[in-house]
Amino acid sequence: MKLYLATTNPGKIREFSAAGLEVELLPAMRDLPLAPETSDTFEANAIEKALYYGAHADSWLIAEDSGLEVDALAGAPGVHSARWAGNDAANNERLVREMAGQQLRSAHYVCVISLVAGNRVLGSFRGTVEGEILQQPRGEGGFGYDPYFFYPPFGQTFAEISKERKTSVSHRGKAIELLNAWLRENASS
Ligand code: IMP
Repeated sequence: MKLYLATTNPGKIREFSAAGLEVELLPAMRDLPLAPETSDTFEANAIEKALYYGAHADSWLIAEDSGLEVDALAGAPGVHSARWAGNDAANNERLVREMAGQQLRSAHYVCVISLVAGNRVLGSFRGTVEGEILQQPRGEGGFGYDPYFFYPPFGQTFAEISKERKTSVSHRGKAIELLNAWLRENASS
């Protein structure tokens, strides 16, 4: 069973392959306007994206919605993570600015992957990971907020570790694990 992945984010693509999930990028994505993301939940946005792209796929398709929720910022940037301040660099500058002087540093990443067959939603799979927001960036790897996302069990940020190690504990890795378990139960090859 061919499984398409609908994303334009190179960081996400690298992590899906690091997790060992066999996916193909949906070719039609090149010609389609970006999917709308109109909801204030990761679940609804993931489903919206998956249904939008799934209409242009000849096999099953997954799309994901993810983001960072910072406790001291009442869960912001949340579903607005990608475009909070415009781009990754500006987003991180805003994060540092809004967290300046803040004692409460806890945050988590959330990832929801939705699986569709055409216009049918087969399932949604959610993963989260807890961390802390640093005041200074550390590391060159990962993407997005990773240089500021410190993962206490490793004593490192997500930008300081390999994508395989990140995926072994990350929100995306956990959602992929749940998806994989569902596929093993329900998909014939
Ligand atoms: P989406 O493409 O609308 O799902 O937005 C995802 C955004 O959330 C990314 O552009 C990043 O800003 C942030 N994000 C999600 N997952 C990660 C991650 O694993 N590392 C760093 N930032 C992430």
